[in-house]
Amino acid sequence: MPSDPQPISGIWYPEQSNRSVTASLLVRETSMSILADDGAVLASGSFSETIVTDRVGNVPRRVTLANGSVFETSDNAAIDAVVAIIAGKRPGWIHRAERFHPRLVVFALMALIFIVAIYRFALPALVELAVAVTPPVVPEMMAQGTLQALDATAFDTTALSAVEQSRLREGFERLTARSGPGAGKFSLEFRQGGMIGPNAFALPNGTIIITDELVKLADGDSELLLGVLAHEIGHVELEHSLRQFYRSMGAAGLIMLIGGDIGSGAEDILVQGGGLLALSYSRSQEADADRHSVQLMAKAGYDPEAIGRFFMLLETRLRDGSGTNILATHPGTPERRKAVHEYARELRSAH
Ligand SMILES: [Zn+2]
Repeated sequence: MPSDPQPISGIWYPEQSNRSVTASLLVRETSMSILADDGAVLASGSFSETIVTDRVGNVPRRVTLANGSVFETSDNAAIDAVVAIIAGKRPGWIHRAERFHPRLVVFALMALIFIVAIYRFALPALVELAVAVTPPVVPEMMAQGTLQALDATAFDTTALSAVEQSRLREGFERLTARSGPGAGKFSLEFRQGGMIGPNAFALPNGTIIITDELVKLADGDSELLLGVLAHEIGHVELEHSLRQFYRSMGAAGLIMLIGGDIGSGAEDILVQGGGLLALSYSRSQEADADRHSVQLMAKAGYDPEAIGRFFMLLETRLRDGSGTNILATHPGTPERRKAVHEYARELRSAH
């Protein structure tokens, strides 16, 4: 900050007057004042409203203020200094304002909009792109890794009888034969759930696992179980777990993945499959899989609302207080049962 300039002596000509007054010009932060000899302020104005004549030899300089009054001085050097201050300060003041205020706010807003846009638009688009370019070996690796991890930590060989297994397998094949990708895409695995308890889930390669505990929970209602399997077939057909997996990587991870630079973290998840287990489907994915179950069950000649009976079963179990972690992965069952019922009615009336 340069030291404040000294008052410049000269003559002041008030606006619309022939008078002339000995006065001095005092420059402050962003404005200047004309002072009388006794210190009284005769006129003042901001830099932006002040006009200073250019230097022409030793011709006295005229400083015209906003009110039209004029200050004249032959102290050219002092006026040059004032001009320099005005030139330095006027844009400088504007610059600072732009740099620290509007620009910063605009920048912060743009950054926020950009982040929101990535999650609203770019992330779903990147997820779709990643799904589209995923070679079949990737879901295969993910599925194998996941099943191996589960077999090592939770699962045990099934204790279901051969009759029970083949009854479900038959129904399963009837469903998969009518699915979009066809029967060849899917396989059914029976396991004792252990700590996982009664559950059924789909791996991205089309392997669907059903636990003995879930079969027992159904208490002989194979159609209910087929409704659940049709739901899982829906998750595979709609590539939900791959989508959730990519979604969990975030935009930055996906850009790297699509760019060919597969991070070691993603590689670990692909190989070990642990990450896949930590993912859960979104509510809209669950609703889509529910509708898929209704459709597929109807196509195969089963009760389209069998999946609704599964929800009913879960609700009863919950009310009994015999909680099971299948509820954690299947939330909002009364609403879903209602939605299934409405969708089944919709389908019936469409035919
Ligand atoms: Zn589901």
